Amino acid sequence: MDTKVVKFGGSSLADAEQFRKVADIVLSDKSRRFVVASAPGKRFSGDVKVTDMLYNCYDMAVKGESFDRSFSAIEARFNDIITGLGIDLSLDKEFSDIKDAFAHRAGRDYAASRGEYLNSIVLAKFLGFEFIDPAGYIRFDETGTFDLDTTRKLLGEKLADIEYAVIPGFYGSMPNDTIKTFSRGGSDVTGSIVASAVNAVIYENWTDVSGFLIANPTIVDKPEPITTITYRELRELAYMGAGVLHEDAIFPVRRANIPINIRNTNRPEDKGTFIVSDTAETSRYTITGIAGKKGFSVIQIEKDMMNAEIGFGKNVLRALEKNNVAFEHMPSGIDTMSVIVSSETLIGKEKPVLDEITYRCHPDKMEIENNLALIAVVGRGMRKTRGTAGRLFSALAHARVNVKMIDQGSSELNIIIGVEEEDFETAIRAIYDMFVLTVK
Ligand code: ASP
Repeated sequence: MDTKVVKFGGSSLADAEQFRKVADIVLSDKSRRFVVASAPGKRFSGDVKVTDMLYNCYDMAVKGESFDRSFSAIEARFNDIITGLGIDLSLDKEFSDIKDAFAHRAGRDYAASRGEYLNSIVLAKFLGFEFIDPAGYIRFDETGTFDLDTTRKLLGEKLADIEYAVIPGFYGSMPNDTIKTFSRGGSDVTGSIVASAVNAVIYENWTDVSGFLIANPTIVDKPEPITTITYRELRELAYMGAGVLHEDAIFPVRRANIPINIRNTNRPEDKGTFIVSDTAETSRYTITGIAGKKGFSVIQIEKDMMNAEIGFGKNVLRALEKNNVAFEHMPSGIDTMSVIVSSETLIGKEKPVLDEITYRCHPDKMEIENNLALIAVVGRGMRKTRGTAGRLFSALAHARVNVKMIDQGSSELNIIIGVEEEDFETAIRAIYDMFVLTVK
């Protein structure tokens, strides 16, 4: 039988009603054998995630403050779910062990991990699945780096004999057996690891949106969904802030060539977005997605005969390195070079950076311009379509957007443009209209 690994995020497991939807999804397909669960998330806007409640409660314990009340609120979240589901389960023993561990300062990662731990016990009971604690199987090395090879082996062996199981997301353990978590949102990573360890046919990541949209819905009115996206395209869009999936969730499944399907627990009839390593399927539109971010600055450098000066670029980058500033892009002309950096990293360092470049490179002219927004137009279809850049720039010209920078990667997978921050939204709408609306 094919095996599917399914991961449910915090909003999908926030209360008893959501648990029922999850059970319907899991039990409707026998190949959904391994379920990775997050801690209960927000039930409504303004609600607090159980993970955050745990962090707060543990911080109180470490300060020596009484944390009884705040721990009771956590217990109530789980007890509400248990009562709502009508299952015969008591977590009292677990609650008291965890409280003890808090009092003995078992560590912040341990504290945070208890949300997925407890939620998975409840879900396993409700589904009638086995509960597997990942602590013994998902391993980190002494430096705290996740160890995929050891984990695949240990987890693969363990799960080989199990038909149906629920596995808490978000954590594993260190060589000394203390609990270690991934960074926030890390249950996505666990799902990917489990999928790779059992060689799943697919990793379904169930959340509260029906996959990725071509553009940000707060900028474009009802953007179309993305049906299929490659890992590389996703990486380009994610860099520009198109969130949904934890960045580290890609590599375990990518290495094992397992597709990810982002699905919506509240709309299981939607097909969601497939993330694949390569696709023969041409996308409906030339572009796959548009994403962007504000908050960049450009250091413009001019010098006659720059092109002939060996080591010029290196010296510019050295000046940045010396001031601990990372660069994002570096489009250049014959006698000009623009270095784009995130404005945040430049705060308080403008003068030392310019002084250092002056000292090392002796430019004729140099200035810093702020308030730049970058927009990435990404699509595997661009390579095969002539006139993409032409259409893009004519759309922007018609919308009266002044393009300040253009950077097309040699992969022809994306074109990055820089515009004034005040033109950001207009530019995105103009691009969407040109490549999606007018094609529909
Ligand atoms: N519960 C953890 C968090 O809130 C991990 C996760 O949900 O993926 O970050």
